[in-house]
Order: sequence, then structure tokens, then C-alpha cells
Amino acid sequence: MSALTDLSLAEMKAGLDARQFSAVELAQAHLDAMAANRHLNAFIVETPELALTQAKAVDDGTRSGPLAGIPLGIKDLFAVEGVQTTAGSNILKGFVPRYESSVTANLLRDGAVFLGKLNMDEFAMGSSNETSAFGRVISPWKAKGSDAELVPGGSSGGSAAAVSARLCAGATGTDTGGSIRQPAAFVGIAGIKPTYGRASRWGTIAFASSLDQAGPMARTVTDCALMLTSMCGFDAKDSTSLDIPVPDYAAGLTGSMKGKRVGIPVEYRLDGMDPEIAALWDQGIAWLKAEGAEIVSVSLPHTKYALPTYYIVAPAEASSNLARYDGVRYGNRVTPAGGNVHDMYAATRAAGFGKEVKRRIMIGTYVLSAGFYDAYYTQAQKVRALIARDFEAAFEKCDVLLTPTAPSPAFAFGAKADPLAMYLNDVFTVPASLAGLPAMSVPAGLSASGLPLGLQIIGRPLDEMGVLDAGLAIERAAGFSARP
Ligand code: GLN
Repeated sequence: MSALTDLSLAEMKAGLDARQFSAVELAQAHLDAMAANRHLNAFIVETPELALTQAKAVDDGTRSGPLAGIPLGIKDLFAVEGVQTTAGSNILKGFVPRYESSVTANLLRDGAVFLGKLNMDEFAMGSSNETSAFGRVISPWKAKGSDAELVPGGSSGGSAAAVSARLCAGATGTDTGGSIRQPAAFVGIAGIKPTYGRASRWGTIAFASSLDQAGPMARTVTDCALMLTSMCGFDAKDSTSLDIPVPDYAAGLTGSMKGKRVGIPVEYRLDGMDPEIAALWDQGIAWLKAEGAEIVSVSLPHTKYALPTYYIVAPAEASSNLARYDGVRYGNRVTPAGGNVHDMYAATRAAGFGKEVKRRIMIGTYVLSAGFYDAYYTQAQKVRALIARDFEAAFEKCDVLLTPTAPSPAFAFGAKADPLAMYLNDVFTVPASLAGLPAMSVPAGLSASGLPLGLQIIGRPLDEMGVLDAGLAIERAAGFSARP
């Protein structure tokens, strides 16, 4: 048998059921892998005692469920009771929640084992993991013939690196504008962001509340399906949670594309597109066609406004959400000698937030300020509605959309020092986020430099099943087996 850490989540489940190994052995194999790979900086906190206690309970038969004994990493945006939760920020260093986020509670209900909290861009703002207050996460991948360290993508970069390096079977991620899909693409794993409202946001530290969604990141589409069923579900504690039954995605998976129409949005073929990305996309189209899909060209005319719209809406909501970190109610406090309460707020935020978070708060408060509100925020909301309408029209002609996930493979640290260059990396992922649609990235090939490239599938609202099926079809056709 191959190393336990090399098994897929589904294989681990089968092996545990057949008692080929115990949950404790499985947890220990992953804890050992984590210890051997600390240089990646994927975990902010490791929780070996918690993991072994949970695993032992599975072996004893006192914990059970569809994910019984499956070792997972948890992005540090999810509150885990009794475990430091920081959102990758100095302002929350040392914060230990006394409650469990709904998503992690669902995973625990289903028997999962928690290995630790995964590093991430501060407050999930970023595409490279360079903004974490706990230091950058290093991708386990290297380009051919180069020793340069590469970014794992972001903001769920710790999740991506850990799953790809076989430090956990799967990980939770969150996606506000691409933070599950882009890092998944950069490290050659799968990841799905469900329809807005499918997964509860309760207990997940807020970035931009109208966009934030949790989702799984794992090495196969089936593994994502297994985790997704567990993570999703109605939650009365989240006012935007959808009270709609969640299918058993893994049981429903067929990978069949027969009779399906796959839309190819013309506006995504950008001028000056990396020829490797364009070629991969064409390959993906050919694969789905060979599987019996009908390929149709569709238009999403407002695509070019998606990035500017996102970078108004997301910072606006972030500036409001992050106002709670004032040194009084949450997190750390800095009290300047002789200062008043306003000096305390200022000193706390100056010390607690990193540069990118401050930039977003500044942009957000600016676009929401009297005199600029209508010009920026109201306008962005209107354009957001038009972007959503584009998708509605496209889905009259097709069942799913196929696009690249990111405009390039993983880049080197410091390569996108200009914030606008960094924001441009989200060009293919933010439109589906603004429209609240389910979207997934699946590893589809390697660049000439030997780095993973992903294809994105976007689906109709609540059609995670259709997205996963197209994802499985790509996964089978691509036969992606490269590893770092
Ligand atoms: N890279 C995007 C941003 O920085 C998306 C982040 C996310 O999805 N959390 O806002």
C-alpha cells in the first residue's frame, strides 16, 4: 500500500471502513508529514492533541459519520472552539474563540479530524499569501530548472500548500473573489466555491459579507464533493443561509457530459492572453466535446467591469466589517500613554493591521463616504446587477461555463508588488463571485515550466452537481497526476 498520506480522501474513507489502518495511524501519518514540512509555513497552529483525541474517538466507535477519521486542515478564518483563530492578522493574535463556526461544526458532526489552522492572506485579502502576519506560505512546487520559491496563491494559500504537499486529506477554504479557485489552480488541486448562501458564514471571520463563501479544497473532485455535502446546509444563525436541501454530491457524481451544453464566454479570451492558458482552455473544450457536450459560444458583455466592481464592493464591505477591531471588543489593544479613546483606536489599528488590509479599509471608507457613495458604491452595485444578468442570459444557452481559472501559473514572491498587478490575477474568478454562482477549479495540465494550471467551471445557482460533474469530466480527461 502507498503511504497513507498519498491516498485520496475517498480512499482514506474506504481504508478506515475496511479497518486497513486506524484513524489514529492516519492522523499520525499526517502529523508527521506536517512536522517534516514546516518550512512551507502552511499551518499557523498545529493541533496534534486535538487530532489524536478526535481520531481515537473514531477508533473507539464514539465518533462516526461520513467523514469519520478524515484528517483535515482548517483555514484560519474559521473559528474553532478553543483553538487560536487569527485570520492571519496581528490584531487577532492570541484570540481563542469559545464557539465553533457552523462549517467546522458540520465537519465535526460528520467525524472529521482537525490537524490545525492553516495560514492565509490577512483577512483573506490577497492572491499570494504574502500579506499574512505569520509569514508567507511557500508553494511545494518549483518551476523546472529553477530553485525560486513560488507563491501558493491566495488567500487560501496554506490550505492549497497543505493539501498539495499531502499534509492533510482536504482543507477548508473561503472564496470572496477567487480565494479557493486560484490557489487550487496554482498547486494542482481541486476546489469549489458553492452558491452564495449554501455554506453558513456564521463563525467565519467576515471579509466581504455579500461575497464570502466557504468551500472545500482537495486533491480530487470526488473528495471535494464529499467535503462539500458535509460543509453546506441551512443555518438559522446566518441570515443569508439558504433553506434548501443539500444533495449527496459524491453519490450523485457521474462525470457525464452527454446532452450538456458548455458555454465559452468570448469576453474571457483577453487580448494578450498567455498562449499556454489559451491552449489549455482549448484543450478543455475539446475534452468536454469528446465527452458528448455541445459547445456554445456565449457573451458576458460586462466582464471587463467585474474587477473594478469587485475592488469597490469588497473593500466597502471589508471597511464596515473590520470596524469591529477597535481594541475594545475583539483582539489586541494598543494604549498610547496619555492618549484618549481615539488615540487607542488609531494605535490599535496601526499596529494590528497590515498594509493591504489598511489599503482596503481606506478604499472602502472612501467609496462609502458622503459625496462619493453614489459615484462609486451605488454605481458598483448597479454594475454588479448587470454582471449577474449577463450570467442569467448565458445560462439560457448553456448548462455550465468553462474558462481558465487564472491568467498565469504560480509566480515568484515579490513578482506582483504593485497591488493593481496583484488584483489583475483575479480577472477570471471575480465575476462568478459577484453573481453568487458556484464555481470550481480543476487541475488540467502543466505549463512548459512544469507548474500546474487549472480550468474553471461556473454553474447556475445551486447547480453544484453540474459543476462537479463537469469537473470530474475534466479530471478524467486530463489525468493530472503530477505532484510537487
Ligand atoms: N484575491 C482576492 C482579494 O484579494 C480574493 C480574495 C478572496 O477570495 N478572499 O480580494
